[in-house]
Amino acid sequence: MAKKTVEDIDLKGKKVLVRADFNVPVSDGAITDDTRIKAALPTIKYVTQHGGKTILLSHLGRVKTEEDKEGQSLAPVAKRLGELLDRDVTFVSETHGEDLEKAIADMQDGEIVVLENTRFEDVDGKKESKNDPELGKYWASLADVFVNDAFGTAHRSHASNVGIASTGIPTVAGFLMEKEIKFIGEAVDDPKRPMIAILGGAKVSDKIGVIENLIEKADKILIGGGMTYTFYKAKGEDIGNSMVEEDKVELAKSLIEKAGDKLVLPVDSVTAKEFSNDVATETHEGPIPEGQMGLDIGPKTVEAFSDILKDAKTVVWNGPMGVFEMSNFAKGTIGICEAIANLQGANTIIGGGDSAAAAESLGFADKFTHISTGGGASLELLEGKTLPGLAAINDK
Ligand code: ADP
Ligand code: MG
Repeated sequence: MAKKTVEDIDLKGKKVLVRADFNVPVSDGAITDDTRIKAALPTIKYVTQHGGKTILLSHLGRVKTEEDKEGQSLAPVAKRLGELLDRDVTFVSETHGEDLEKAIADMQDGEIVVLENTRFEDVDGKKESKNDPELGKYWASLADVFVNDAFGTAHRSHASNVGIASTGIPTVAGFLMEKEIKFIGEAVDDPKRPMIAILGGAKVSDKIGVIENLIEKADKILIGGGMTYTFYKAKGEDIGNSMVEEDKVELAKSLIEKAGDKLVLPVDSVTAKEFSNDVATETHEGPIPEGQMGLDIGPKTVEAFSDILKDAKTVVWNGPMGVFEMSNFAKGTIGICEAIANLQGANTIIGGGDSAAAAESLGFADKFTHISTGGGASLELLEGKTLPGLAAINDK
């Protein structure tokens, strides 16, 4: 169901609480990658330009003890945000209390205040992560409306997303949230066909829900990565020393049966004696010989998958085709990226943290229609699950 967005509410003169995802990597007080801050800019700009008072909250990392707080402050994020927007941003070094309330009371229309890391509330009884209702109520009391733009935490029920929304405060989606639901939602639930799903990565067990959901929705499912060998085993093929999940072999069998010729397995693999970039590689069609482990899909598989992909109108990709972090085993993932990059007029979506990292590090990021910013959240959307953070946003 369509969700209300910032464009559906009046912001002028309103105190607008915006839950962003500023969970950026910080090292020695310096932000090493500000992608997530940039991803939140459209919503923040929109709210300020429409006369709202923007009160920003976000988590950063995990905070369990007083000591954890060190190095996890949102202060550098507030500073970077000010630089990116080229304007003043007020940082308040608390998550509740008088200083915060005073800073908000002093705000003029269009101004921006950033609260301290919401997870600082976890030190005292996990109030944020366990969605303590009083905390959600308190944060909601600071504002007139709530904008949830933190897609990356939408699969979690925390005080700073679900807690605030469930107080009944008008709750709408920000632009990032809207974009994620639109692209992933359409690709999975209302795809232009043929819809091809490409599933890889390390383990079958991480992806059971995704495979089961996409078996129903996709026209073809191409399997690669480490999970290949659990499927090989299910078919009675030798897999040498390849990664395998013995306790998922039966499941793989039933998935093969259920999916029929929708499910396409690799026809060849690039293998090595060890999990290393410094040993000789071999290429094998079908079974993996003793002493070898499959670490990438082979050239014939790239060709076969590319051939299937060339008619695709929707591609949903989750999980690298091989150990792309090592150059000897990156060719499969590169080949699939190239096949997708060549498509004209198709919707091409990446969900999954390592798959997004692969597309970026291999230089294909701009070739996709949409690369999801939320690893866990995008996985759960691909599984067809209802995300609590999303469900708590008002319907149109
Ligand atoms: P995502 O984060 O996109 O959902 P995963 O976390 O499931 O992806 O899997 C990514 C990891 O899978 C990568 O680190 C990659 O090295 C590993 N991988 C891919 N193919 C293999 C393989 N054949 N054997 C072992 N590991 C593999
Ligand atoms: Mg991963």
